[in-house]
Amino acid sequence: MFPLLEEPHGCPVCASERLRPLHVYRVKPRTQIAQVANLALMGCERCGVSFSHPLPTDAELDNYYSGTYWQERRPEDMDDRTGGRRERIIRLRGIEVDLLAPHLQLPRTRTPTVLDFGCGSGEYLDAFADRGWQTVGLEPGEIGEQTAKRHRMVAEIPAEETFDLVILNHVLEHLKDPVATLERIAAATYGGGYIFASVPNLRRLPEHGRLSYVMNGTHIVSYTLSGLRSVLGLAGYEVVQHFDQPEWDEHHGQKAIRLPVLARNVGGRREPEGEPLAEAIASLLDYAGEQEEPEGERARTDPEEVARLRREKKQAKKERREQQASEPPERAAGPVARLARRVLAEPPGGS
Ligand SMILES: [Zn+2]
Repeated sequence: MFPLLEEPHGCPVCASERLRPLHVYRVKPRTQIAQVANLALMGCERCGVSFSHPLPTDAELDNYYSGTYWQERRPEDMDDRTGGRRERIIRLRGIEVDLLAPHLQLPRTRTPTVLDFGCGSGEYLDAFADRGWQTVGLEPGEIGEQTAKRHRMVAEIPAEETFDLVILNHVLEHLKDPVATLERIAAATYGGGYIFASVPNLRRLPEHGRLSYVMNGTHIVSYTLSGLRSVLGLAGYEVVQHFDQPEWDEHHGQKAIRLPVLARNVGGRREPEGEPLAEAIASLLDYAGEQEEPEGERARTDPEEVARLRREKKQAKKERREQQASEPPERAAGPVARLARRVLAEPPGGS
């Protein structure tokens, strides 16, 4: 009921206890996995991801994703129910694959193989098959009859090196332990092979404005580019390209509500570096209409500096309010602004 009254047991991605609360939000019934309807968004200062607190239990996750409720929520992924939307998705997938291709260095000695992890009705696989790839799908839910005919299906990630590229679209935001899944995928990917992952875009929240899409009952881990880089790095992947720039928006036909990233399997485990949570905090602040000052880098990491800037801004705002008392406000500060202000006025937790 009151998530911040419970202590989170470390970051689900990197186990760090250097966490700070970023937001509290109410979950809509259609994305409610767990009993609780109010969740906190916790940010991890070590790896930079943000995650729901409390996280759903394994039983709650199993129950939700095996239920018909989930299946019914994915009509756009089903062969026979989509009508015109399916045509549009096929066209978009083709464009994405063509934008991806120049960044891939593939072996010439074999036909490249792609796995779509959570392939739905296989539009990505269709696009790759049209371009000469061998295609493999993994889909725990229902798949259309046509998908099963067109592509080889597997029930689980193979244990041996099999793939040159693995697609994780609408996957990592749903996983409680994304690194564990990425490590299994790394073992099934050739050295130098790739992951193409796409997650809701916390980094560009101020532009697309879809807060309840980035964090909700089913999207339990939220990513900026820094956070996604950390998660992929912990599983031995290095980001080689991200595709949420305006060019991609234009080709893809929508604002970057998703963050698509291409990463290469370089082996080993790369520890997160720098201040990876700063991007999430800056994004939430911008979303709340709180533009950072030029000295923003310092402001995000030095609590005293943050407090000073806050005081100055507060004073300036007060003066502005008094001056414009008779005019209606352009945009009232929302709950994120209020929470961000409170959080940033406090020193970061932990060591
Ligand atoms: Zn972490």
